[in-house]
Amino acid sequence: METAPTKHDVFRIALYYCYIPIEEAVQDHIAFHEETCSRLDLCGRIRVAAEGINGVLSGTKSNLICYEQELQESLTELMSSRSDGTNWDLDMKYCHLRTDLSIESQLFTSISIRPTDQVVSLFDLAKQTSIDCDCVFRSKNGGGKDKRQPESTTISSIYQKSLAQASHGKHPAPHLSPEEWSAKLFTLTSDNKNDIVLLDCRNVYESNVGYFRYPNTTTLLTNTRQYSELPQVFIDQIDRLAKCSHIFSFCTGGVRCERATQFLDQLLEERNKAKSSGIKTKPQIYQLHGGIQKYLEAASTNDALFNQFKGKNFVFDWRRTDPVHGDTITGSCLVCEEPHDDYDNGHAPAENCASRCFQCRILVLVCPRCRPTVLCWGDEHSEDRPFLSCGGIGDKCLKTVPVREIQN
Ligand SMILES: [Zn+2]
Ligand SMILES: [Zn+2]
Ligand SMILES: [Zn+2]
Repeated sequence: METAPTKHDVFRIALYYCYIPIEEAVQDHIAFHEETCSRLDLCGRIRVAAEGINGVLSGTKSNLICYEQELQESLTELMSSRSDGTNWDLDMKYCHLRTDLSIESQLFTSISIRPTDQVVSLFDLAKQTSIDCDCVFRSKNGGGKDKRQPESTTISSIYQKSLAQASHGKHPAPHLSPEEWSAKLFTLTSDNKNDIVLLDCRNVYESNVGYFRYPNTTTLLTNTRQYSELPQVFIDQIDRLAKCSHIFSFCTGGVRCERATQFLDQLLEERNKAKSSGIKTKPQIYQLHGGIQKYLEAASTNDALFNQFKGKNFVFDWRRTDPVHGDTITGSCLVCEEPHDDYDNGHAPAENCASRCFQCRILVLVCPRCRPTVLCWGDEHSEDRPFLSCGGIGDKCLKTVPVREIQN
């Protein structure tokens, strides 16, 4: 006899994205989501851009499956009117709720469906269009002797070029399934001759609780505070990244690697062009298809993957972290440095009890023993407890967190 699913198991959090030329149909497509989500009782957030869609929704598993089918149909119909035969792939992930928290505390309670200019905001278009990368290439290549580009190279010009390249054909960074990811790492590390970087495209508070490690590779935590800082980190790290042989890029569900690896590949290309001499090799970049989410799911059923993801997968919904993970703790308490990886110290994230830097409000790890001894953001003032900032006790808020390299 089949056992009835537990109540938690009736629900799912669905994550998805799809790069697809919606173009002028953005408003119509928003109307589709509004009608469908309301009918199927789904809540969460959906971004609809001319270049594609990105969403996270909570609801019953069966309703989410209906939604996926209707979305497939809607996108197929939209694309059938286009003559260019664009390839697109709706990458939907169904995540479990945590069983240590109540169902209600983990579901979204409202829906936001809005038009945006990008599927994910890699570019803060107002801020970054004018950052000049030309000087970076010149100074790093020795005293301004290299030939100048005809026009100055800016972050946005490199981004525009990478988009144009992508529209002509395939992505410069092939997508690897969890099985392919593990197999390729196994092969490439076996003779110890390759310089392999496992590139974490996520923010510092995400990497704090989990990341990939693999023997004979380097894990590079970009430690951004937000995704739009990534282009600048790539520019700062360009010499390090250019000298490695392979880059394995990963993020939560895959969407952030798409544009990030495209941009990085173009940046490496431009760097080679700007170099007047020397070897012009470029690392091969790969991206983990379906991200950490799909990898952990695969690893939970396939022992052959030897789960190389250490710690937990941070998520942007009311679960904070996905329940599927190994038992390694990668984080540590900011005060006593003991292993710790729960921002909420046992509370449901929806209760808003997470510890945050008293200055910048970024999430910080403080264990339950140390928590009553410090003042975090939102705490009632007390003379005998010192303030805790993201850099430690006292006035140590970090404006930027340095990139961290871990030799595996
Ligand atoms: Zn990714
Ligand atoms: Zn502690
Ligand atoms: Zn801070």
